[in-house]
Amino acid sequence: MRNLKSFEKDLYKCSKCGLCQSACPIFKLTKNECAVSKGKFAMLYGVTIGDLKLSKNINKYLDMCLKCGKCNDFCPSDIDILQIINTAKYEYNKNKYKLFFSLFSKIINFFKKNKNNNSRIIYFRGCVNNIFPQTDKYIKKIFKDFEIREPNFECCGLPFLSEGGLEEFIKSAKHNSEFLKDYDYVVTDCASCESTLLEYPKYIDFKLDKQKFINWGDLIAKKGLKFSFEKPVKITFHKPCHLKDDSFFKKIMRTCENVEYIKMNDYDECCGFAGSFGIKNHQLSKELSVQKAKNIIDTGADYVITSCPSCILGLKQGLFYTKAKNIKVVSLLEFLSKAKNIY
Ligand code: SF4
Ligand code: SF4
Repeated sequence: MRNLKSFEKDLYKCSKCGLCQSACPIFKLTKNECAVSKGKFAMLYGVTIGDLKLSKNINKYLDMCLKCGKCNDFCPSDIDILQIINTAKYEYNKNKYKLFFSLFSKIINFFKKNKNNNSRIIYFRGCVNNIFPQTDKYIKKIFKDFEIREPNFECCGLPFLSEGGLEEFIKSAKHNSEFLKDYDYVVTDCASCESTLLEYPKYIDFKLDKQKFINWGDLIAKKGLKFSFEKPVKITFHKPCHLKDDSFFKKIMRTCENVEYIKMNDYDECCGFAGSFGIKNHQLSKELSVQKAKNIIDTGADYVITSCPSCILGLKQGLFYTKAKNIKVVSLLEFLSKAKNIY
């Protein structure tokens, strides 16, 4: 496990070009330079060379981050921004929340189900879908002809990683990686889980084939499933920050009868929820989700579809504050399972 000091050279590579500011949803809203990577790195570099202490104030700015990774995509210095922020959180929280992390781990893994067979398609369910078992109903309806294997996975570890619980994260990663063998696809229906599984090789000795880590939408598009709806329906789509490729969505829409897709403005801007960010920075979270809700309302859609359970909560939050009660927020699977015919 790397410590913060080992990132000193990476932090020095930050040229203060400010490109991350043009991508960061928090900077756009607050205009606060400490809240974006540029400012966070100036502070963390000060910590690595001993000029600053990793204080409560710096931790406040580490928490003021959606972990959306948009700055990462823009950074010309190719710095792994999220790994540095996660390591800084770990160093700040080290030993403080050991008991909390271990209890949290026990609670979220309590709901795990174990459905093993020899299928070459592995399903990584994710914690939220363990708590809302209706997902099984949608999977059964859409993938009735598919054999799917569900090993005894634990949480992907994202809640630990983003809160500085690196030791617990590594435990989860080691456990899960044992089951990530012999497959054609590893399928998730949570963009955050998928992006976290892809982070494992940075923290443990583990090789994976990125192309084989897909979501249900990719699998539907690859298998060419078609859907026909009884009545005309208008939909829009929110792209989760952690979803790297959403090309499956348009492919699926082309195979849906009676469905009109209307693209919303800024369809890939953050919903504002982002796990514990929404709790620690409630006002910012509310403002981001309301902006998102306004874009949804402008489309006149009946449904807003997404592929991340955490985004579903963010979208619901925004629509609640804007009093747009008629628009339903659903996962892609829930929406497609409403089709009269699937073939
Ligand atoms: S991860 Fe997102 S919210 Fe955090 S600094 Fe980067 S762009 Fe801003
Ligand atoms: S884009 Fe990268 S190099 Fe430029 S200021 Fe942001 S973190 Fe530094």
